[in-house]
Amino acid sequence: MSKEIEAFQTAEVTCPYCSFEFSDSWEFGSLRSDGDSDEMECDECGKKFYVRCNLEISYTSSGLCKENNKKHNWEYFDFSSEDDGKRCYGRKCLTCGKYEFDKTKEDEEVHKSVSKNKEGKSVA
Ligand SMILES: [Zn+2]
Ligand SMILES: [Zn+2]
Repeated sequence: MSKEIEAFQTAEVTCPYCSFEFSDSWEFGSLRSDGDSDEMECDECGKKFYVRCNLEISYTSSGLCKENNKKHNWEYFDFSSEDDGKRCYGRKCLTCGKYEFDKTKEDEEVHKSVSKNKEGKSVA
């Protein structure tokens, strides 16, 4: 019988049998949406177990929008400085004004496309 564990975006998936930590938890294709679960095989001991994705909790840990206690309403920006050509990119919450740098919309798109590619355990 397989055990089920919860995986968090901020933590690595850990094998419930041997405690092996997966360093690239988020390369596991189908675990992209809240409530998704998938069977994984431990690289270390070879046993199978279920992992359930709990993205809401990781959103909580990264902070909800203080204005409405929901997810931030991100607007992405990406531009190069005219002075030194440095790329500046990130996102800003239109609701509360919080900035996060070095985040691109493409990053999120990549995650989504990985989830569609079920064979793509190690795309790189
Ligand atoms: Zn294991
Ligand atoms: Zn916000």
